[in-house]
Amino acid sequence: MAEKTELIGLSRDELQKALTDIGEKPFRAKQLWQWLYYFGETDFEKMTNLSKVLRQKLSEHFTVTRPKIVAEQLSVDKTRKWLLEFADGQRVEMVYIPEEDRGAVCISTQVGCAVGCRFCHTGSQKLTRNLTTAEIVSQFMVARDTYGEWPSPTNETRYLSNIVVMGMGEPLHNMENVVKALNILTDGDGIAISRRRVTMSTSGIAPHIVEALQRTGVRLAISLHAPNNELRSTIMPINNRYPLEEVLNACRQYQAEDGSRYITFEYLLLDSINDSLDCARQLIALMKKYTLRASFNLIPFNPWPGCAFKPSPNNKVKAFARELENAGFAAPVRVARGQDILAACGQLKSKKDAESK
Ligand code: SF4
Repeated sequence: MAEKTELIGLSRDELQKALTDIGEKPFRAKQLWQWLYYFGETDFEKMTNLSKVLRQKLSEHFTVTRPKIVAEQLSVDKTRKWLLEFADGQRVEMVYIPEEDRGAVCISTQVGCAVGCRFCHTGSQKLTRNLTTAEIVSQFMVARDTYGEWPSPTNETRYLSNIVVMGMGEPLHNMENVVKALNILTDGDGIAISRRRVTMSTSGIAPHIVEALQRTGVRLAISLHAPNNELRSTIMPINNRYPLEEVLNACRQYQAEDGSRYITFEYLLLDSINDSLDCARQLIALMKKYTLRASFNLIPFNPWPGCAFKPSPNNKVKAFARELENAGFAAPVRVARGQDILAACGQLKSKKDAESK
């Protein structure tokens, strides 16, 4: 018998084709889509508005799979981290960061990462492979399983309200699968996370920025971390390939298409590297030069073993934030979360990989 097809990760059109290929009517795709993404059902037997014969047929041809949870950590501040394993044994991390009445799920797009940002623990693990569309979508589905958020709750009652594509990997190095996954996650008949509540963060793969956002309608965050090419290239080698001018021009183009779009610039504060007032002033000048509507997300650094950088001291963080705010930019300092549960991205994976060797 032919290998079964995984249904998670198929677009609506692909799902319809999969059904017509086994002799079913196209309208069944809508029903099945609802079972998969609105009810989160993984067992064909429980899809009760489908006939018994059809349920049997579906189980003969298709699978609905979730990644395996290899490890799970819950912080005292309620941040939750999962280590997830796919069918071939590859693993990624996912994190849930709760706020008062909502929260963001941070998902991964690759196993490892080829960008190699010097401050990033994941960047120290070589790229193994891209995640498939199914593997990206099903991470969020695991989070919903854990929090019991099926069927898809209304916007007001949902606890897992936001998605940030900021976990392991550079999303724009896996663009096709990421675009498809985001369109499934935001489809209004299924998981239905509002596009305005999804943020894709990139290290600045300039040629793909505008296209990826046009095809998904999600929000953009740029991992900036330095205000000039010289410094940025030393901590983010990708800057040699796509220098600041190219990245910021793409940002300007993205905003030119829709005046309401704001861009978040992520800025990790590293002691005596990029945390001077002069750096803050250079950042302000850059935003003005490119006329960008921007806010900053200032991130305290989470040191990890073997990393040469240190976190910026509190007084410098405050002064940096004040300088940006005085120039009219929102510049909140991200509250450090999950300090008791291997907070740096990629740390849990490294630990468990080492244990299973
Ligand atoms: S910060 Fe992001 S892009 Fe840079 S190495 Fe880490 S995972 Fe890759």
